[in-house]
Amino acid sequence: MSEENTHKLVIIGSGPAGWTAAIYAARAQLDPVVYVGVATQNPSPILPGGQLMLTTDVENYPGFPDGVSGPEMMMMFQRQAERFGTKVVGRDIVKCDFNSTPFKLETSNDETVLAEAVVIATGATANWLGLKNELRLAMSGGGVSACAVCDGALPIFRDQHVAVVGGGDSAMEEATFLTKFASKVTVIHRRDELRASKIMQQRFLSKPNADVMWNSGVVDVLGDEVITGVEIENTQTGDRSTLDVKGLFVAIGHTPTTKFLQGSGIAINDAGYVVLESRSSKTNIEGVFAAGDIADATYRQAVTAAGMGCQAALDAEHWLAARLSHV
Ligand code: NAP
Repeated sequence: MSEENTHKLVIIGSGPAGWTAAIYAARAQLDPVVYVGVATQNPSPILPGGQLMLTTDVENYPGFPDGVSGPEMMMMFQRQAERFGTKVVGRDIVKCDFNSTPFKLETSNDETVLAEAVVIATGATANWLGLKNELRLAMSGGGVSACAVCDGALPIFRDQHVAVVGGGDSAMEEATFLTKFASKVTVIHRRDELRASKIMQQRFLSKPNADVMWNSGVVDVLGDEVITGVEIENTQTGDRSTLDVKGLFVAIGHTPTTKFLQGSGIAINDAGYVVLESRSSKTNIEGVFAAGDIADATYRQAVTAAGMGCQAALDAEHWLAARLSHV
């Protein structure tokens, strides 16, 4: 193992949590290395830049009174981390061995990287309904997507009737975005009440081309090459109907990105989130810390993720200081 590959601190993931951890760690002279994921793999196991890369305007991050685009904000975070010496590597970490220190991390190009301490900040990825045609048409570019912000402006959706599944803030954000391009946007929600915050609901519902189908679930996606409609089942009565749409955007939440942690011994709860010691970023393994959406089922905001990234860097710094003083 080459010395070059041994680091004091490796940060896995490059959303608000990862970059904030890097900024703090770099300023503490821990020479952090951030594994940002591989942008060309689709879907990337670790999305470079995190979920904000799929967001248009971020209006709730303090310090940006006029808002800022998600990708632009992540570039600013990265620049700030690099300014203090953070090293950035465009690879996925695919496996972790936390049985002994230095920890061993395997990269997507079969390298083994050694780290005295690790911050896991790989966030979460979009959920799908699990319908056969949904995934087929999503993968073939046939008008099904889990990211309106990425795909909504495509010509195939312009001046068309499109649908969004889900009732949370993501669904409202995606649906509102789509009202700019589509002739009509129907939100299909399985209950009679939206989960989304009132302001996000109002923003969507105030659009002249906004529409909601309550108590409804999508049970099939219709169309061979491209989507021609969706089959809807009323969740109260079981009645079925067809809604003719030229686009379907699935916005039903996210799953923490933890696959690469399988077998590593890191404690993960039933919902799939990394378990932390209360009020800290410490996982069940000493020297391994977690921050952001991978460990936060409750708040899941850019600003809370950034705060957790800060905690993780401080916790790692204290842990490394105590450990290295005993070596
Ligand atoms: P979420 O709040 O968990 O909402 C998921 C929605 O999808 C819920 O309405 C849920 O229905 C529905 N759903 C889940 N599984 C489903 C299924 N199999 N079939 C049909 N519908 C299903 O997820 P989110 O909207 O992605 O938001 C996650 C977090 O990010 C939240 O804390 C949110 O506030 C935050 N967020 C904030 C912003 C912003 O402020 N700009 C934007 C996006 C997200 P039920 O309601 O019936 O459970």
